[in-house]
Formats: sequence, structure tokens, C-alpha cells
Amino acid sequence: MIKFCDRPFNSIHLDPNGGCRLCAWTNANLGDLTKEDLETVWNSENANKIREAVKQGNYEFCRKTSCPFLENDSLPEISEEEAEKMVPEKLPTHYSVACDFICNHSCPSCRNEIFQPDEAYRDRLKLILDKILPYLNRKETVKVLTDGNGDCFASPYIMDMLERLHPENEDCQIGFETNGALLDEAHWKRIRHLAKYDVHVTVTPNSFIRSTFTYLNGGHDSYDAVMRNLAFLRKLREKGDVNWIRISIVLQERNFWEFPEFARRCIEEFSADEVVAKPLYRWFMLSQEDYWFKDVLNPLHPYHKEYLEMLENPILKDPKIFYWGARNLHARREHPAQLYKEHMKITEMLLDRQDAAEVLQKRLHEKNVISLYIYGDMELASVLYHVLSKTDIELKGFIARDMVKGERCGQKVICLHDYEPQDTDAILILNNSYMAEIVRDFHFKGFYGTLLPVNELVEDLDR
Ligand code: SF4
Repeated sequence: MIKFCDRPFNSIHLDPNGGCRLCAWTNANLGDLTKEDLETVWNSENANKIREAVKQGNYEFCRKTSCPFLENDSLPEISEEEAEKMVPEKLPTHYSVACDFICNHSCPSCRNEIFQPDEAYRDRLKLILDKILPYLNRKETVKVLTDGNGDCFASPYIMDMLERLHPENEDCQIGFETNGALLDEAHWKRIRHLAKYDVHVTVTPNSFIRSTFTYLNGGHDSYDAVMRNLAFLRKLREKGDVNWIRISIVLQERNFWEFPEFARRCIEEFSADEVVAKPLYRWFMLSQEDYWFKDVLNPLHPYHKEYLEMLENPILKDPKIFYWGARNLHARREHPAQLYKEHMKITEMLLDRQDAAEVLQKRLHEKNVISLYIYGDMELASVLYHVLSKTDIELKGFIARDMVKGERCGQKVICLHDYEPQDTDAILILNNSYMAEIVRDFHFKGFYGTLLPVNELVEDLDR
């Protein structure tokens, strides 16, 4: 028996700018919907690669933190023979239309300011939505979810698409994810025709305390509107226009202690069918430093013990609460300043030791390395490049996931997305604290050669 996820066989997640993935928790892009048709991206090489892995019970291309099924180990089991026979639907039947960043809030966990789309962005978005709409309206479609990157009620483009959404399948589930500030009577009136479907609404207030609510949404004064709209939503639920209310909270250093009272109010005051407790994941603009400060699931966080105590509150045993990873501890991660400290120490050793190049060359020979990329676009990358250029190792340049500079030491920095692996490559990893994720990303690119953490390369310098 193996654990099996059917999402890669029936679902698609649309990203802003035209990219698409099989689900929100895989990283691999399937193609560009602004240039290709849905059939092409659905049958792309990357899509089939993930499906083949899943058929073997292999989830190495999935994000183990953030996928709710992997976080909760809740995937169903099927036999290996059954999994082998799985084929994808002709076209997706589940759509996550998350292709718009437009939002009326600017939560610091997501962005630094209100997103201002330029004309090219608007044209691209209109193109994607016009292209996808006929597929959403097919009788085979069973689920349409908007939005995941912005707020569907704040976006004139998503609202326009929703006005034209009429799936032939009347059992289709339509989901909205919103911060709640614009989920009012005026907006509901524009999409009231959707009430005949199975409507699920997710609201993401993150706090019911005005000051915390405002802090977590980037300083926007929408507390009263959200509280009013939650009461409006409860009425829609009572009328049967809405079939499921989900209220979610992203637990972090600022709001975790209020979670028991938050959950109680969601259930008793706002008739939530489900309260979702998520940890904070590192995405969009969040720097390593800010993430460390907010991530109370890290056992090294100063409030971690208080967080664990809070989870023991009896209110939190209510079966309506869904723990989307909020009870799974995160990796023990030192404050990122520690990484810079280690990098400074390595830099000092490299500069102090006359024989540094010789020592590194010996270590690389022992590992049978003949050519090397440096993975990391940071100061230590330049120092290492200068030392390693005195060895007989072929330095192929730099790769980076988050690019700081396009060029370093006269070499182009290649974005991970564009890297094409060769058999001879070895890759030196500068940020050891994300090793598991880095290994996953390179394996997805088809690279199974040497991935060498920098501390292993330099350990002989310390003797
Ligand atoms: S990330 Fe999760 S939902 Fe997505 S394909 Fe993997 S197991 Fe399935």
C-alpha cells in the first residue's frame, strides 16, 4: 500500500503572470497560460514528472510543510497496482484561480505595500481569466476556488470573471478566499447567481483585537467592516446562500496567545463550520530575519514554550478546529544572524590561511569534484569564488533562487529556474539551514550529483 494524492491528476493552480502548478504546494511551473493553451500545460513534462513520482508514493517534489495532507499525514492509502493505473483527467476538474495579487490590504507576511498593477499586468490578467473561464463553466468542473494571492472582492478583474461564471455542473463547489473587508451586500449582489452552487467562503481576519488586526493587515482601517461582514456572512449561511464558512488565522508571534478566544468567537458568534489554524510559512516578501521573528513554531523562538502551552487550552479541542500544520513543530533554526556569523568566520579563515586554496582543492578532489557551481548570491560566494579560482576546479559560476545581483565576480548569476544540470556538475551550498528544500529543488531539476554544504568544504581550514 502507498499514500496517494489525486490532486496532480485532477487539479490546477493558476499563478499571477501566467504560470500554473498542479497544486499550490508544489513548486514546479507547468508552463505559461498567456502563451500556451490549458491542454499543453496540463500535459507538460513537469506535470507528468510529478504524477509519476506520486504514483510511486514519492512526494519529494511536494512541500511537506504547507501541504495540509502531508502536514497531517492524511493522504488515503491505495494499492501499488491501483496507483500504477492512475491517469490524469482529460482536463482539470478542480481549479484554483489564484492568478491575481490585487488586494486592499498589505499584510507584512505577504507584501510591503498595496500592490499596484501596471497596464501589462492588467492585460495579462484579463487574458488569463478570459482564457480559463470557458473551462470553469464546463459540466466536468467540480471545484473553482478564488483567490489565494490577493482578495477576490478587491479585484475588479476577478469580480468581472465571477459575474460571468456559470458552471454547467450545478453541484460545483465555488470557493472564495477573502480578508472579509469587502464581503458586503454590494459585492454579494453582483455574484448572487452563484448561490445555487455549493458556496464555501474562507475569511482570514487573523485577529479579533483591533490593534492586532490592524497591525497584521499592514495598517488598514477595516476592522469594523470585517466584523460587520462576518455577521452578514452568517446571515447568508442561515439563508443557505453560503454552505460553508471557514475562518482562518495564521498563528505568529503577535496573535498566537489570542487563538483560544478567537476560535470560540468564530464558532459561537460567527457560526463558522471550520476554524483553520495555520502556522506562518515563508513566502513572498518576508525576509529570513522577519520570518524567524514571527515563527513561534521554531523551537528556538523565545515564545515557543508559551505557544505550546496555549495549544493545551481545552477550547482548542473543538472538532471544528482544523490544524493545518499549526501543531507540527518547525525545524530548529538559529536566528539568521547566526548564518552571517558563520559566513564571517569562514571568510576570516579563507583570508587568514595562505594555503586555503590548496586545502579546498584537496577536499574537492576527495569528493571527485571537477567542476563546480556556487549556490547562493551573497558576499561569501564572491570570497569563495576568488579562492577557488586558484585551484584546478572548473568554476562554472553562480546559481541563486532569490537573486540579489545579476552578475558576481564577472560571472552571470543563473536563476535556479533556468539552471540545466550537466553530469559533471557539483554544487556548493552556502545556506545550510535550508538544505532539505535545496536538495528537493535540485532533484526536481534532474540534478542528483554532489550537493556540498559549505561547512563540509571548509572544515579542514579550522584545524
Ligand atoms: S503538495 Fe500535497 S496536495 Fe499537492 S500534490 Fe503533493 S501531496 Fe498532493
